[in-house]
Amino acid sequence: MILKEDCIFCKIANKKIPADIIDETDNFVVIKDINPVAPMHLLIISKIHYDSVLDTGGEDGINCGKELFGILGTLAEKFNVADKGFRTVINTKEDGGQTVNHLHIHFMAGRWFGWPPG
Ligand code: AMP
Ligand code: ZN
Repeated sequence: MILKEDCIFCKIANKKIPADIIDETDNFVVIKDINPVAPMHLLIISKIHYDSVLDTGGEDGINCGKELFGILGTLAEKFNVADKGFRTVINTKEDGGQTVNHLHIHFMAGRWFGWPPG
């Protein structure tokens, strides 16, 4: 499956509905989270629909190694958080707190994140 009908992130990532695209690669787009939990809260969304990270089969068909890790560095530089750092999160299914069933990575910065999370 490339795109899924009625999936909001499919529509955003493939520009079927307007969104403020912060950055983009062949396989991902970056937008601001609508309900931020940090001063900077971005979502890195795959253009291809996967219900969750489990559905990628662990294969790197969307070039995660180069593109995804590359985006992290690009965003850190662009928003001046390379020194202080940031947190990335992939919520997966029910216990992981996933609410949108389309692969996305949270990029959060601008405050300290303790561990374990509260
Ligand atoms: P998760 O709980 O990991 O599935 O995260 C889904 C995230 O998507 C939440 O942080 C929401 O605030 C965010 N979100 C949902 N719909 C939109 C949207 N239309 N634009 C931007 N962010 C969204
Ligand atoms: Zn989708």
